[in-house]
Amino acid sequence: MSKYQSVRGTRDLLPAQKKIFRAIEAIAYENSINYGFGQIETPIFEFSDVFHRAMGETSDAVSKETYTFEDRGGEKITLRPEGTAGAVRAYVSEGLAQNNPNKLYYYGPMFRYERPQKGRYRQFYQFGVEVLGLDNPLADVECIDLAYTILKKLNLETRCELQINTLGDAESRNSYREALVQFLTPLRSQLSEDSKVRLEKNPLRILDSKDENDKKLIANAPAMADFMTENTKVFFKTVLDGLTKLNIPFKVNPKLVRGLDYYCHTVFEFVTTELGAQGALLAGGRYDGLVETLGGAKTPGVGWASGVDRLADLCAGHLVIENKKPVSIITNSTETLELALVIASKLRNQNHYCEVFMNGNIGRKTEKSKKLNSYFCLQILSDQTNTLVNFGIFNFSNNVTIHNTIAKDRIFTKNIAGNIIVDEDIVNINSIVQKVINEIDVA
Ligand code: AMP
Repeated sequence: MSKYQSVRGTRDLLPAQKKIFRAIEAIAYENSINYGFGQIETPIFEFSDVFHRAMGETSDAVSKETYTFEDRGGEKITLRPEGTAGAVRAYVSEGLAQNNPNKLYYYGPMFRYERPQKGRYRQFYQFGVEVLGLDNPLADVECIDLAYTILKKLNLETRCELQINTLGDAESRNSYREALVQFLTPLRSQLSEDSKVRLEKNPLRILDSKDENDKKLIANAPAMADFMTENTKVFFKTVLDGLTKLNIPFKVNPKLVRGLDYYCHTVFEFVTTELGAQGALLAGGRYDGLVETLGGAKTPGVGWASGVDRLADLCAGHLVIENKKPVSIITNSTETLELALVIASKLRNQNHYCEVFMNGNIGRKTEKSKKLNSYFCLQILSDQTNTLVNFGIFNFSNNVTIHNTIAKDRIFTKNIAGNIIVDEDIVNINSIVQKVINEIDVA
Protein backbone atom coordinates (compact mmCIF):
# COMPACT_ATOMS: atom_id res chain seq x y z
CA MET A 1 0.00 0.00 0.00
CA SER A 2 1.24 3.46 -0.84
CA LYS A 3 2.51 5.49 2.08
CA TYR A 4 0.72 8.60 0.93
CA GLN A 5 -3.04 8.71 1.04
CA SER A 6 -5.49 11.55 1.38
CA VAL A 7 -5.97 12.66 4.98
CA ARG A 8 -8.81 10.94 6.84
CA GLY A 9 -12.09 12.67 6.12
CA THR A 10 -10.84 14.23 2.89
CA ARG A 11 -11.16 12.74 -0.56
CA ASP A 12 -10.20 13.21 -4.14
CA LEU A 13 -13.02 14.20 -6.42
CA LEU A 14 -12.19 12.35 -9.62
CA PRO A 15 -13.44 13.65 -12.98
CA ALA A 16 -16.74 11.71 -13.07
CA GLN A 17 -17.68 12.88 -9.58
CA LYS A 18 -16.36 16.39 -10.05
CA LYS A 19 -18.60 16.66 -13.09
CA ILE A 20 -21.62 16.11 -10.82
CA PHE A 21 -20.29 18.69 -8.35
CA ARG A 22 -19.84 21.21 -11.15
CA ALA A 23 -23.32 20.58 -12.49
CA ILE A 24 -24.77 21.15 -9.01
CA GLU A 25 -22.67 24.27 -8.55
CA ALA A 26 -23.80 25.58 -11.94
CA ILE A 27 -27.47 25.08 -11.06
CA ALA A 28 -26.97 26.72 -7.67
CA TYR A 29 -25.11 29.68 -9.17
CA GLU A 30 -27.47 30.24 -12.08
CA ASN A 31 -30.57 30.18 -9.91
CA SER A 32 -29.00 32.43 -7.28
CA ILE A 33 -28.35 34.96 -10.03
CA ASN A 34 -32.01 34.65 -11.08
CA TYR A 35 -32.97 35.56 -7.52
CA GLY A 36 -30.73 38.63 -7.51
CA PHE A 37 -27.72 37.28 -5.64
CA GLY A 38 -24.11 38.12 -6.49
CA GLN A 39 -21.23 35.75 -5.79
CA ILE A 40 -18.71 36.55 -3.08
CA GLU A 41 -15.54 34.59 -2.43
CA THR A 42 -13.96 35.06 0.96
CA PRO A 43 -10.63 33.50 2.01
CA ILE A 44 -10.57 29.88 3.11
CA PHE A 45 -8.96 30.94 6.39
CA GLU A 46 -9.68 33.85 8.68
CA PHE A 47 -8.44 35.03 12.05
CA SER A 48 -9.80 32.47 14.52
CA ASP A 49 -11.68 35.22 16.31
CA VAL A 50 -14.00 35.68 13.32
CA PHE A 51 -15.42 32.20 13.84
CA HIS A 52 -15.14 32.20 17.61
CA ARG A 53 -17.07 35.45 17.90
CA ALA A 54 -19.56 34.67 15.16
CA MET A 55 -20.37 31.11 16.00
CA GLY A 56 -20.05 31.25 19.76
CA GLU A 57 -17.56 29.28 21.80
CA THR A 58 -20.16 26.67 22.74
CA SER A 59 -21.13 25.61 19.24
CA ASP A 60 -19.70 22.19 18.37
CA ALA A 61 -18.29 23.65 15.21
CA VAL A 62 -16.00 25.92 17.20
CA SER A 63 -15.44 24.02 20.44
CA LYS A 64 -14.49 20.70 18.85
CA GLU A 65 -14.36 20.87 15.11
CA THR A 66 -12.25 23.73 13.86
CA TYR A 67 -8.86 23.38 12.25
CA THR A 68 -7.06 26.09 14.15
CA PHE A 69 -3.34 26.78 14.04
CA GLU A 70 -0.80 29.47 14.60
CA ASP A 71 0.82 30.68 11.41
CA ARG A 72 4.50 31.56 11.11
CA GLY A 73 3.76 35.11 12.15
CA GLY A 74 2.10 33.91 15.33
CA GLU A 75 -1.44 34.75 14.18
CA LYS A 76 -4.20 32.40 15.28
CA ILE A 77 -5.85 31.19 12.12
CA THR A 78 -8.87 28.93 11.50
CA LEU A 79 -9.88 27.13 8.32
CA ARG A 80 -13.47 28.14 7.70
CA PRO A 81 -15.97 25.61 9.04
CA GLU A 82 -18.89 27.41 7.33
CA GLY A 83 -19.53 30.36 5.07
CA THR A 84 -21.69 32.81 6.97
CA ALA A 85 -19.08 34.15 9.38
CA GLY A 86 -16.63 35.00 6.56
CA ALA A 87 -19.36 36.59 4.43
CA VAL A 88 -20.49 38.74 7.35
CA ARG A 89 -16.89 39.64 8.21
CA ALA A 90 -16.46 40.78 4.58
CA TYR A 91 -19.75 42.68 4.72
CA VAL A 92 -18.41 44.63 7.69
CA SER A 93 -14.77 45.06 6.65
CA GLU A 94 -15.59 45.92 3.00
CA GLY A 95 -18.23 48.44 4.03
CA LEU A 96 -20.98 46.73 2.06
CA ALA A 97 -23.67 48.10 4.36
CA GLN A 98 -24.04 51.26 2.30
CA ASN A 99 -25.53 49.16 -0.51
CA ASN A 100 -28.03 47.33 1.63
CA PRO A 101 -29.77 45.06 1.14
CA ASN A 102 -26.89 42.78 0.15
CA LYS A 103 -27.68 39.43 -1.39
CA LEU A 104 -24.59 37.27 -1.43
CA TYR A 105 -24.00 33.79 -2.84
CA TYR A 106 -20.90 31.69 -2.11
CA TYR A 107 -19.44 28.29 -3.00
CA GLY A 108 -16.38 26.55 -1.66
CA PRO A 109 -14.73 24.05 0.64
CA MET A 110 -15.36 24.03 4.38
CA PHE A 111 -13.34 22.24 7.05
CA ARG A 112 -14.57 20.54 10.20
CA TYR A 113 -12.79 18.02 12.37
CA GLU A 114 -15.81 15.71 12.58
CA ARG A 115 -15.91 11.93 12.80
CA PRO A 116 -15.84 10.97 9.12
CA GLN A 117 -18.53 8.72 7.67
CA LYS A 118 -20.60 8.61 4.51
CA GLY A 119 -21.96 12.09 3.90
CA ARG A 120 -19.71 13.58 6.57
CA TYR A 121 -16.26 14.73 5.63
CA ARG A 122 -13.55 16.90 7.13
CA GLN A 123 -13.27 18.84 3.91
CA PHE A 124 -16.64 19.24 2.25
CA TYR A 125 -18.27 21.71 -0.10
CA GLN A 126 -21.07 24.11 0.50
CA PHE A 127 -22.90 26.72 -1.46
CA GLY A 128 -25.03 29.14 0.40
CA VAL A 129 -26.70 32.53 0.39
CA GLU A 130 -26.90 35.42 2.82
CA VAL A 131 -29.32 38.33 2.72
CA LEU A 132 -28.12 41.23 4.84
CA GLY A 133 -30.19 44.27 5.67
CA LEU A 134 -33.74 42.94 5.34
CA ASP A 135 -35.85 42.29 8.41
CA ASN A 136 -38.94 41.43 6.37
CA PRO A 137 -40.09 37.83 7.00
CA LEU A 138 -40.74 37.59 3.27
CA ALA A 139 -36.97 37.78 2.78
CA ASP A 140 -36.87 34.43 4.64
CA VAL A 141 -39.52 33.16 2.22
CA GLU A 142 -37.57 34.33 -0.83
CA CYS A 143 -34.45 32.56 0.50
CA ILE A 144 -36.31 29.33 1.08
CA ASP A 145 -37.93 29.63 -2.34
CA LEU A 146 -34.47 29.81 -3.93
CA ALA A 147 -33.41 26.72 -1.98
CA TYR A 148 -36.54 24.89 -3.11
CA THR A 149 -36.01 25.94 -6.73
CA ILE A 150 -32.45 24.60 -6.69
CA LEU A 151 -33.62 21.32 -5.16
CA LYS A 152 -36.35 21.14 -7.82
CA LYS A 153 -33.82 21.66 -10.60
CA LEU A 154 -31.83 18.78 -9.08
CA ASN A 155 -35.02 16.65 -8.99
CA LEU A 156 -34.62 16.32 -5.25
CA GLU A 157 -37.60 18.29 -3.97
CA THR A 158 -39.73 15.17 -3.46
CA ARG A 159 -36.86 13.27 -1.87
CA CYS A 160 -36.56 15.63 1.07
CA GLU A 161 -38.78 17.51 3.46
CA LEU A 162 -38.65 21.13 4.54
CA GLN A 163 -38.79 21.33 8.32
CA ILE A 164 -39.19 24.75 9.85
CA ASN A 165 -39.39 26.30 13.29
CA THR A 166 -39.07 29.64 14.98
CA LEU A 167 -36.62 30.43 17.73
CA GLY A 168 -38.41 33.72 18.25
CA ASP A 169 -37.09 37.14 19.07
CA ALA A 170 -34.69 37.78 21.95
CA GLU A 171 -37.51 38.21 24.45
CA SER A 172 -39.19 34.90 23.50
CA ARG A 173 -35.88 33.07 23.56
CA ASN A 174 -34.87 34.44 26.94
CA SER A 175 -38.10 33.41 28.63
CA TYR A 176 -38.02 29.99 26.97
CA ARG A 177 -34.38 29.50 27.91
CA GLU A 178 -35.26 30.19 31.52
CA ALA A 179 -38.12 27.68 31.48
CA LEU A 180 -35.96 25.05 29.84
CA VAL A 181 -33.17 25.48 32.38
CA GLN A 182 -35.71 25.21 35.20
CA PHE A 183 -37.05 21.99 33.68
CA LEU A 184 -33.65 20.41 32.98
CA THR A 185 -31.69 21.42 36.09
CA PRO A 186 -33.25 18.72 38.32
CA LEU A 187 -32.46 16.19 35.54
CA ARG A 188 -28.89 17.37 35.09
CA SER A 189 -27.21 14.20 36.33
CA GLN A 190 -29.09 12.15 33.71
CA LEU A 191 -28.03 14.35 30.78
CA SER A 192 -25.17 13.44 28.44
CA GLU A 193 -21.83 15.08 29.16
CA ASP A 194 -22.24 17.42 26.18
CA SER A 195 -25.69 18.48 27.30
CA LYS A 196 -24.48 19.15 30.85
CA VAL A 197 -22.10 21.73 29.38
CA ARG A 198 -24.84 23.11 27.14
CA LEU A 199 -27.14 23.49 30.12
CA GLU A 200 -24.75 26.12 31.45
CA LYS A 201 -23.80 27.76 28.19
CA ASN A 202 -26.42 27.22 25.50
CA PRO A 203 -29.39 25.21 26.80
CA LEU A 204 -31.45 25.53 23.59
CA ARG A 205 -28.97 23.28 21.85
CA ILE A 206 -29.95 20.41 24.14
CA LEU A 207 -33.13 20.20 22.05
CA ASP A 208 -30.86 19.26 19.15
CA SER A 209 -29.07 16.48 21.04
CA LYS A 210 -28.52 13.21 19.19
CA ASP A 211 -28.15 11.31 22.48
CA GLU A 212 -31.07 8.86 22.90
CA ASN A 213 -31.40 9.43 26.63
CA ASP A 214 -31.30 13.21 26.18
CA LYS A 215 -34.05 12.84 23.60
CA LYS A 216 -36.25 10.98 26.10
CA LEU A 217 -35.71 13.61 28.78
CA ILE A 218 -36.46 16.44 26.37
CA ALA A 219 -39.70 14.84 25.17
CA ASN A 220 -41.52 16.32 28.18
CA ALA A 221 -39.77 19.69 28.14
CA PRO A 222 -41.88 22.85 27.90
CA ALA A 223 -42.79 23.71 24.30
CA MET A 224 -41.01 26.64 22.73
CA ALA A 225 -44.26 27.72 21.07
CA ASP A 226 -45.77 28.56 24.49
CA PHE A 227 -43.17 31.26 25.08
CA MET A 228 -43.42 33.17 21.84
CA THR A 229 -44.22 36.88 21.90
CA GLU A 230 -46.96 38.27 19.66
CA ASN A 231 -44.26 39.78 17.44
CA THR A 232 -42.63 36.38 16.98
CA LYS A 233 -45.94 34.70 16.16
CA VAL A 234 -46.81 37.27 13.49
CA PHE A 235 -43.32 36.93 11.98
CA PHE A 236 -43.55 33.15 11.82
CA LYS A 237 -47.09 33.18 10.43
CA THR A 238 -45.99 35.54 7.64
CA VAL A 239 -43.20 33.11 6.73
CA LEU A 240 -45.49 30.08 6.71
CA ASP A 241 -48.22 31.90 4.75
CA GLY A 242 -45.62 32.99 2.22
CA LEU A 243 -44.41 29.42 1.75
CA THR A 244 -48.00 28.26 1.27
CA LYS A 245 -48.59 30.93 -1.38
CA LEU A 246 -45.48 29.73 -3.20
CA ASN A 247 -46.65 26.10 -2.98
CA ILE A 248 -43.64 25.06 -0.96
CA PRO A 249 -44.59 22.17 1.30
CA PHE A 250 -43.23 22.32 4.86
CA LYS A 251 -43.60 20.68 8.24
CA VAL A 252 -43.31 22.69 11.44
CA ASN A 253 -40.86 20.86 13.69
CA PRO A 254 -41.00 22.46 17.15
CA LYS A 255 -37.80 20.65 18.17
CA LEU A 256 -35.71 22.09 15.34
CA VAL A 257 -32.90 24.29 16.59
CA ARG A 258 -29.73 25.04 14.70
CA GLY A 259 -26.26 24.17 15.90
CA LEU A 260 -24.94 27.72 15.84
CA ASP A 261 -25.58 30.29 18.49
CA TYR A 262 -26.55 33.20 16.30
CA TYR A 263 -29.95 32.13 14.98
CA CYS A 264 -33.27 33.80 15.84
CA HIS A 265 -36.79 33.66 14.39
CA THR A 266 -36.88 31.34 11.38
CA VAL A 267 -34.79 28.16 11.33
CA PHE A 268 -35.22 25.49 8.67
CA GLU A 269 -33.70 22.37 7.17
CA PHE A 270 -34.37 20.34 4.08
CA VAL A 271 -33.96 16.78 5.35
CA THR A 272 -33.83 13.47 3.51
CA THR A 273 -34.24 9.99 4.91
CA GLU A 274 -32.14 8.53 2.11
CA LEU A 275 -28.69 9.23 3.51
CA GLY A 276 -28.94 7.60 6.91
CA ALA A 277 -27.82 9.77 9.79
CA GLN A 278 -26.51 12.56 7.53
CA GLY A 279 -29.95 13.66 6.38
CA ALA A 280 -29.60 17.44 6.37
CA LEU A 281 -29.20 18.63 2.79
CA LEU A 282 -29.65 22.35 3.25
CA ALA A 283 -30.08 24.34 6.41
CA GLY A 284 -30.34 27.91 7.51
CA GLY A 285 -32.25 30.61 9.25
CA ARG A 286 -32.33 34.17 10.45
CA TYR A 287 -29.43 35.70 12.36
CA ASP A 288 -30.29 39.26 13.26
CA GLY A 289 -27.51 39.71 15.83
CA LEU A 290 -24.52 38.42 13.91
CA VAL A 291 -23.34 41.55 12.09
CA GLU A 292 -23.19 43.42 15.39
CA THR A 293 -21.18 40.60 16.94
CA LEU A 294 -18.58 41.09 14.21
CA GLY A 295 -18.32 44.82 14.77
CA GLY A 296 -20.90 46.15 12.31
CA ALA A 297 -24.07 48.11 12.91
CA LYS A 298 -27.16 46.18 13.99
CA THR A 299 -28.24 44.48 10.76
CA PRO A 300 -30.78 41.75 10.15
CA GLY A 301 -29.63 38.71 8.19
CA VAL A 302 -31.03 35.49 6.82
CA GLY A 303 -29.42 32.71 4.82
CA TRP A 304 -28.73 29.04 4.32
CA ALA A 305 -26.02 26.62 3.27
CA SER A 306 -26.21 23.34 1.43
CA GLY A 307 -23.78 20.44 1.40
CA VAL A 308 -22.76 19.60 -2.16
CA ASP A 309 -21.23 16.23 -1.17
CA ARG A 310 -24.62 15.07 0.06
CA LEU A 311 -26.54 16.49 -2.90
CA ALA A 312 -24.06 14.74 -5.20
CA ASP A 313 -24.60 11.42 -3.42
CA LEU A 314 -28.33 11.75 -3.96
CA CYS A 315 -28.04 12.99 -7.53
CA ALA A 316 -25.52 10.42 -8.76
CA GLY A 317 -27.13 8.49 -11.58
CA HIS A 318 -30.20 10.76 -11.67
CA LEU A 319 -28.89 14.15 -12.67
CA VAL A 320 -28.91 14.48 -16.43
CA ILE A 321 -25.63 16.09 -17.35
CA GLU A 322 -25.24 17.05 -20.98
CA ASN A 323 -21.92 15.60 -22.05
CA LYS A 324 -20.32 17.59 -24.83
CA LYS A 325 -19.75 15.31 -27.80
CA PRO A 326 -16.26 15.40 -29.23
CA VAL A 327 -14.91 15.34 -32.74
CA SER A 328 -12.29 12.60 -32.62
CA ILE A 329 -9.23 12.68 -34.80
CA ILE A 330 -7.54 9.46 -35.73
CA THR A 331 -4.04 9.51 -37.12
CA ASN A 332 -1.33 6.99 -37.90
CA SER A 333 2.02 8.80 -37.86
CA THR A 334 3.90 11.60 -36.17
CA GLU A 335 3.20 13.89 -39.11
CA THR A 336 -0.54 13.19 -39.26
CA LEU A 337 -0.70 13.56 -35.48
CA GLU A 338 0.94 16.97 -35.72
CA LEU A 339 -1.54 17.95 -38.42
CA ALA A 340 -4.34 16.67 -36.18
CA LEU A 341 -3.17 18.90 -33.33
CA VAL A 342 -3.24 21.93 -35.61
CA ILE A 343 -6.78 21.15 -36.75
CA ALA A 344 -7.89 20.30 -33.20
CA SER A 345 -6.47 23.53 -31.86
CA LYS A 346 -8.44 25.53 -34.41
CA LEU A 347 -11.64 23.64 -33.54
CA ARG A 348 -11.01 24.01 -29.80
CA ASN A 349 -10.40 27.72 -30.24
CA GLN A 350 -13.89 27.89 -31.69
CA ASN A 351 -15.16 26.17 -28.55
CA HIS A 352 -15.54 22.66 -29.95
CA TYR A 353 -14.50 19.63 -27.94
CA CYS A 354 -11.91 17.67 -29.83
CA GLU A 355 -10.14 14.42 -28.91
CA VAL A 356 -6.85 13.50 -30.49
CA PHE A 357 -5.68 10.00 -29.65
CA MET A 358 -1.97 9.48 -29.17
CA ASN A 359 -1.88 5.79 -28.27
CA GLY A 360 -2.93 2.58 -29.92
CA ASN A 361 -3.57 1.41 -33.47
CA ILE A 362 -6.31 2.72 -35.75
CA GLY A 363 -8.76 0.09 -34.49
CA ARG A 364 -8.23 1.04 -30.81
CA LYS A 365 -8.55 4.72 -31.61
CA THR A 366 -11.78 4.13 -33.50
CA GLU A 367 -13.18 2.14 -30.56
CA LYS A 368 -12.24 4.95 -28.18
CA SER A 369 -13.93 7.57 -30.29
CA LYS A 370 -17.11 5.47 -30.43
CA LYS A 371 -17.02 5.10 -26.65
CA LEU A 372 -16.81 8.86 -26.25
CA ASN A 373 -19.96 9.18 -28.34
CA SER A 374 -18.13 11.36 -30.85
CA TYR A 375 -20.08 13.21 -33.49
CA PHE A 376 -17.80 11.59 -35.98
CA CYS A 377 -14.15 10.96 -36.43
CA LEU A 378 -11.82 12.72 -38.70
CA GLN A 379 -9.36 10.23 -40.11
CA ILE A 380 -6.04 11.60 -41.25
CA LEU A 381 -4.07 8.67 -42.49
CA SER A 382 -0.99 8.69 -44.61
CA ASP A 383 1.18 5.96 -45.96
CA GLN A 384 4.91 5.57 -45.48
CA THR A 385 5.70 7.86 -48.37
CA ASN A 386 3.78 10.60 -46.60
CA THR A 387 1.05 10.42 -49.19
CA LEU A 388 -2.38 11.10 -47.83
CA VAL A 389 -4.38 7.96 -48.28
CA ASN A 390 -7.48 8.88 -46.34
CA PHE A 391 -8.83 12.16 -45.19
CA GLY A 392 -12.30 11.25 -44.20
CA ILE A 393 -15.01 12.41 -41.86
CA PHE A 394 -16.60 9.19 -40.70
CA ASN A 395 -20.06 9.34 -39.16
CA PHE A 396 -20.59 6.65 -36.51
CA SER A 397 -24.35 6.89 -36.40
CA ASN A 398 -24.79 5.55 -39.93
CA ASN A 399 -21.32 4.27 -40.75
CA VAL A 400 -21.10 6.70 -43.64
CA THR A 401 -18.02 8.55 -44.70
CA ILE A 402 -19.12 12.13 -45.28
CA HIS A 403 -16.08 13.57 -46.94
CA ASN A 404 -13.31 11.45 -48.23
CA THR A 405 -10.30 12.86 -49.93
CA ILE A 406 -7.88 10.45 -51.38
CA ALA A 407 -4.84 12.48 -52.24
CA LYS A 408 -2.25 10.81 -54.29
CA ASP A 409 0.17 13.64 -53.70
CA ARG A 410 2.62 13.83 -50.89
CA ILE A 411 0.85 15.93 -48.30
CA PHE A 412 3.94 16.59 -46.25
CA THR A 413 6.98 18.34 -47.43
CA LYS A 414 10.30 19.38 -45.93
CA ASN A 415 10.90 23.01 -45.03
CA ILE A 416 14.30 24.74 -45.23
CA ALA A 417 15.17 23.63 -41.71
CA GLY A 418 14.53 20.04 -42.75
CA ASN A 419 11.32 19.62 -40.72
CA ILE A 420 8.42 17.79 -42.26
CA ILE A 421 5.46 20.14 -42.59
CA VAL A 422 2.07 20.08 -44.21
CA ASP A 423 2.08 21.05 -47.84
CA GLU A 424 -0.55 23.74 -47.73
CA ASP A 425 -1.09 23.68 -51.47
CA ILE A 426 -2.57 20.24 -51.04
CA VAL A 427 -4.07 20.39 -47.56
CA ASN A 428 -6.09 23.49 -46.86
CA ILE A 429 -6.40 23.30 -43.07
CA ASN A 430 -8.95 26.09 -42.75
CA SER A 431 -11.24 24.49 -45.26
CA ILE A 432 -11.03 21.17 -43.41
CA VAL A 433 -11.86 22.91 -40.14
CA GLN A 434 -14.83 24.61 -41.81
CA LYS A 435 -16.06 21.29 -43.24
CA VAL A 436 -15.91 19.73 -39.79
CA ILE A 437 -17.82 22.63 -38.24
CA ASN A 438 -20.46 22.37 -40.97
CA GLU A 439 -20.88 18.70 -40.13
CA ILE A 440 -21.20 19.49 -36.40
CA ASP A 441 -23.87 22.06 -37.22
CA VAL A 442 -26.01 19.54 -39.06
CA ALA A 443 -25.29 16.64 -36.68
P1 AMP B 1 -24.41 23.51 8.66
O1 AMP B 1 -23.44 24.62 8.30
O2 AMP B 1 -23.89 22.60 9.72
O3 AMP B 1 -25.79 23.99 8.88
O4 AMP B 1 -24.47 22.60 7.37
C1 AMP B 1 -25.13 22.98 6.20
C2 AMP B 1 -25.10 21.82 5.25
O5 AMP B 1 -23.75 21.47 4.97
C3 AMP B 1 -25.70 20.56 5.84
O6 AMP B 1 -27.06 20.56 5.63
C4 AMP B 1 -24.98 19.47 5.09
O7 AMP B 1 -25.61 19.26 3.85
C5 AMP B 1 -23.62 20.06 4.84
N1 AMP B 1 -22.61 19.57 5.80
C6 AMP B 1 -22.38 20.00 7.05
N2 AMP B 1 -21.34 19.34 7.60
C7 AMP B 1 -20.89 18.48 6.67
C8 AMP B 1 -19.83 17.52 6.62
N3 AMP B 1 -19.00 17.33 7.63
N4 AMP B 1 -19.66 16.79 5.48
C9 AMP B 1 -20.49 16.98 4.43
N5 AMP B 1 -21.50 17.89 4.41
C10 AMP B 1 -21.70 18.61 5.52
